[in-house]
This record gives sequence, structure tokens and C-alpha cells, in this order.
Amino acid sequence: MAGQDCIFCRIIAGQIPSVRVFENDRVLAFLDIRPISDGHTLLIPKIHAGSLSECDVSVLAEMIGVVGPLGKAVVGAVQAEGYNLLCNNGRAAGQLVDHVHFHIIPRRCDDGVLARWPHKEYPAGGAEAMAEKIRRLLAIS
Ligand code: AMP
Ligand code: ZN
Repeated sequence: MAGQDCIFCRIIAGQIPSVRVFENDRVLAFLDIRPISDGHTLLIPKIHAGSLSECDVSVLAEMIGVVGPLGKAVVGAVQAEGYNLLCNNGRAAGQLVDHVHFHIIPRRCDDGVLARWPHKEYPAGGAEAMAEKIRRLLAIS
């Protein structure tokens, strides 16, 4: 799904309005239309990729390179104390727009945003077994 079917491709093409904060030839950053906190910004590649694994590594590297200065500017603009860099990858992870994007979400201490992580614990030997499974799948991918 790209081009006319993809809302972010249409934003890149200027067919849908957006409030842009940064762009170069490979990436675009604009304000999220329904911010979790003031200044909530989305950073996207200009070439369509539905998921992280479909995105060219050099484009991902560009995105990571931009996050540093962009995150600092976003935090400065809203006088936040930090930010979450979030990528919902896949429907189960909350990805609604199938064009890779990084959320930059400004945060303050005790703001209650994204505050509760449902941590659990591995049973004895569980972490080692899990790591072994991941290593095996990495080896064949
Ligand atoms: P995700 O759930 O990670 O796919 O997030 C998609 C994000 O895109 C949501 O936070 C939406 O608020 C945001 N969004 C959707 N449409 C627009 C739009 N036209 N302009 C800016 N942000 C948008
Ligand atoms: Zn797209």
C-alpha cells in the first residue's frame, strides 16, 4: 500500500495538509494531528515502507540521525524534560498507519503519559530459552 492509498505518502506529496517541522530529501517530520503531549511529532521516510523490516537500512539510519537534533528541538519548544521515541510496528503493536514512522513524544516527570509498563518476570531458565529461540531465528533470517 503506497501512493494514493497511504495517508503519509499523501502528506509527503502535499495532497493532505500537515504542519511540517523538518524535511530533507529522505525524511519528513510533522506534528501528529492527535498529540499525546504538546509537540508530539512524527518522523517518516519519504519512500514508502510499511514496516521497519521493509524500510531501507540507509533510510532508517537517516531517521535515527535526525531524531537526535529533532528530539532536542521538540523538547526545547515545549520545555519538556525528555521524550519517548516510539515505533508501533505491526497492528498488534498499535500501528494504524502502514507507513513507517517514529513518534517523538515530549515528556515531563510525573506527567502520567505512557506511565504503566506491565512488567513480568521469566521463570527459572526462561530467559535463556527465550534468548536461544531468538538467536536461532536470527541465524536463519
Ligand atoms: P500509529 O498508531 O503508530 O500508526 O500512529 C499513527 C499516528 O498518525 C497517530 O498518532 C495519528 O494521530 C497520526 N495521524 C494520522 N493521520 C494524521 C494526519 N493527517 N496528520 C498528522 N498525524 C496523523
Ligand atoms: Zn506511504
